[in-house]
Amino acid sequence: MHEMSLAGGVLRVVEQAHAREPFARVSLLRLAAGALAGVEVSALRFALDAIAPGTLLEGATIEIDEPPGRAFCMGCGESVEIRSRTDDCPLCGSAKLQPTGGMELKVVDLVVHDD
Ligand SMILES: [Zn+2]
Repeated sequence: MHEMSLAGGVLRVVEQAHAREPFARVSLLRLAAGALAGVEVSALRFALDAIAPGTLLEGATIEIDEPPGRAFCMGCGESVEIRSRTDDCPLCGSAKLQPTGGMELKVVDLVVHDD
């Protein structure tokens, strides 16, 4: 499952943060899974729950935001918001869209505790 390797990548980000600045536990981890990132959020949540026990993510509250995608339209020259890569431009109907944002899964917030 694709989301299982993504969850492993998220855990590595947390472990790297821990290596730089040790902490006892994570209280909140907030992720952003862009609408164009190809991430199934429910599957990602399931994968994170599955790998959390025994890791730094055990007991952490995990929030996953889903920001919309953004694209530049070569038809009308505007930057527009889209929900999927197959969307046409909501302004002019052109299919010539160049995705510019919402294509990645990233950690946007990590709240940790020392006790
Ligand atoms: Zn357009």
